[in-house]
Amino acid sequence: MRTRIRVEGVVQGVGFRPFVHALANRYRLGGLVGNDTGGVFIEIEGAVADVRAFRSALHREAPPLAVIERVTADSVPARGETRFVIAPSAPGGERQTLIAPDSATCADCLRELFDPADRRYRYPFLNCTNCGPRFTIIRDVPYDRPMTTMADFRMCADCAREYHDPADRRFHAQPVCCPACGPAPRLVAADSSPVVGDPVDTAAELLADGAVLAIKGLGGFHLAVDAAHDGAVTALRSRKHRADKPFALMARDLEAAHRLGEIGPAEERLLTGAARPIVMLRRRPEAPVAAGVAPGNHFLGVMLPYTPLHHLLLDRLAGPIVLTSGNVSDEPISYVDAEAYLRLASIADGFLTHDRAIHIRTDDSVTRVWRAREYPIRRSRGYVPRPLPVDWTFRRPVLACGAELKNTFCLGKGRYVFVSHHIGDLENYETYRSYTEGITHFTRMFDVAPALVAHDLHPEYLSTKYAKEVGGVELLGVQHHHAHIASCLADNGEAGPVIGIAFDGLGLGTDGTIWGGEFLVADLTGFTRHGHLAPVPLPGGTAAITQPWRMAAAHLDAAFDGAPPADLAVIRRNAAQWDTVLSVARAGVNSPLTSSAGRLFDAVAAVLGVRDRINYEGQAAVELEQVADRASMRGYPVRLTGTAASGVEPFVVEAGDLVRAVVEDRAAGTPVPTVAARFHRGVAGAVAAGADRIREVTGLDTVALSGGVFQNLLLLDATADLLGERGFRVLTHHRVPTNDGGLSLGQAAVAGAVDASRRRCL
Ligand code: ZN
Ligand code: ZN
Ligand code: FE
Repeated sequence: MRTRIRVEGVVQGVGFRPFVHALANRYRLGGLVGNDTGGVFIEIEGAVADVRAFRSALHREAPPLAVIERVTADSVPARGETRFVIAPSAPGGERQTLIAPDSATCADCLRELFDPADRRYRYPFLNCTNCGPRFTIIRDVPYDRPMTTMADFRMCADCAREYHDPADRRFHAQPVCCPACGPAPRLVAADSSPVVGDPVDTAAELLADGAVLAIKGLGGFHLAVDAAHDGAVTALRSRKHRADKPFALMARDLEAAHRLGEIGPAEERLLTGAARPIVMLRRRPEAPVAAGVAPGNHFLGVMLPYTPLHHLLLDRLAGPIVLTSGNVSDEPISYVDAEAYLRLASIADGFLTHDRAIHIRTDDSVTRVWRAREYPIRRSRGYVPRPLPVDWTFRRPVLACGAELKNTFCLGKGRYVFVSHHIGDLENYETYRSYTEGITHFTRMFDVAPALVAHDLHPEYLSTKYAKEVGGVELLGVQHHHAHIASCLADNGEAGPVIGIAFDGLGLGTDGTIWGGEFLVADLTGFTRHGHLAPVPLPGGTAAITQPWRMAAAHLDAAFDGAPPADLAVIRRNAAQWDTVLSVARAGVNSPLTSSAGRLFDAVAAVLGVRDRINYEGQAAVELEQVADRASMRGYPVRLTGTAASGVEPFVVEAGDLVRAVVEDRAAGTPVPTVAARFHRGVAGAVAAGADRIREVTGLDTVALSGGVFQNLLLLDATADLLGERGFRVLTHHRVPTNDGGLSLGQAAVAGAVDASRRRCL
């Protein structure tokens, strides 16, 4: 008998064939192994016990980067083969292969990198089957060297020997290379003229001297400076037009990271894992970084080196470096050399680059730990395109287009969702282009021809417009906050119904107003709006997003029935425009109503003098959280008014109670940190009260928390505590972000569920 085995999952580009080859030799089996567009196929023949042992070891000992999703087997007549070979890749057929994410340099490669006797000593591009670039260099499937940006490099005899030796760690490692045959680093000045000397060593010297360098990484260019160098950090901020938004740091190793922030076991796992995200660490007061790195922030975003180039560079430096995306203000990061030279010439004093092309622009991932579990902020490099398994089967392939800000899209097929890398804010041509190209690339890589396309209800989002231009597909509009709750459900492998609380920036509601402080009862197929924050005008529309003082005007007007105390500092600071903005808001001119929780946080931040104008998204709320005194345990009371949850009208959470309490408490001389904390706890109390109200009517006792406002850990802690005390089961995000970066997963989940339920009805 000859056994034919098919293995599906992340099994290409992760050393699976050499692993199978070694295993077959161990058990003296004849046959073959190969890649095709469906995954890995194996044929073995030998003694029955050996075949059995092989099959069990296949699971038990699989390579570190492999994820086996499914193994199927059947029998065919024996051919009497005793030799085991690796078959050439078979093109064509349906593509189901899963592609591995980019992966940090492994321990074996790291040893070689710093071993003077090794032929790859200090070679910035060494890699093996267990590590190295993947997603960012793959042009097409099946994953083989000619389909990657390594196609241009011809392997030397030594590399070819390793590549063809089943006993070697680099057996069939597609990006394998060495100083003799692979990419080379290059240091060029701002005018693109070459700089003499060892590129990495010279770059380190320049950084130590305070230079700003553009450095080509896995998914794009970073801008780097010595993190302890005040002048360099200040120069980077002003040249990049980035006023306050924190910079990420790269520390040379775990020990250096410990000097920057507090690291628990979960943070350590994330910092040292193969994905190497930026991990938010509670900052140590004595952290050796310039004040301008993360002004006024209690957290530092820290990552460890993930390419050999990073390891070599950090090895030559005394301390951590700032490593921030290589772009000007809100543009997407540069990833093509020629274009980087143009766009970054006014920022960088030099470029540390190389001649291996990046095929897909991919930002660093950002994550944090909440209650010992991962709570992602941006899921991108190192995570993508690893599929998220789901608990249902898509009847038809789905494309979910995502929202406008922090956009990701995703594809749903079979039992998987492929959430894209972070695309960014769809507000300029360059970002939109990487969005459309990204969708084309994903549909090709995963062989998905979407039949159902899910999109946000907002007609002006570029993602919505894209959906409407696809043509020949069925469209499904998914309400923004329903998508948030569905995302949280899918993230947790649940289908609902649940009490879904979506506290968010802005998202178009089904009644034409702008929602964002929503109490829903939702499952994957639908939702009912049971309650919401009291709506106020959004004075001047989008102007209110960047000018929190406008939200203060709207909320004060509502809370004090048009007559807030005239001596408030926020009114005095903005006296020149205050009355105009108020009259515009009252008249409803370019001032749609919104129940947004994010805008309520903005209003209170302005009332407390924390921030009137922002220069990055969410800044006012971030700073309000930072300023709050966590030790203060009391929260302001909030009333719920309106019809009971079973009625036609949703209940209203009287946000004005909070705004009045903030003003009065402050007038009584209570310090800002205490007031900020009491406000946070007041909002948490309102969430719990709303959940109680819905439980009374529906009997549901699971609450899903989603939306960008829940990036606020003080609010999340307080809310989860209160809900827990009341006996609710609380669902939060762990695999995709709670912000709009996780929205496409929710849209895909809704599309899959709606499609399935419709077909059941037919
Ligand atoms: Zn390696
Ligand atoms: Zn070589
Ligand atoms: Fe949102």
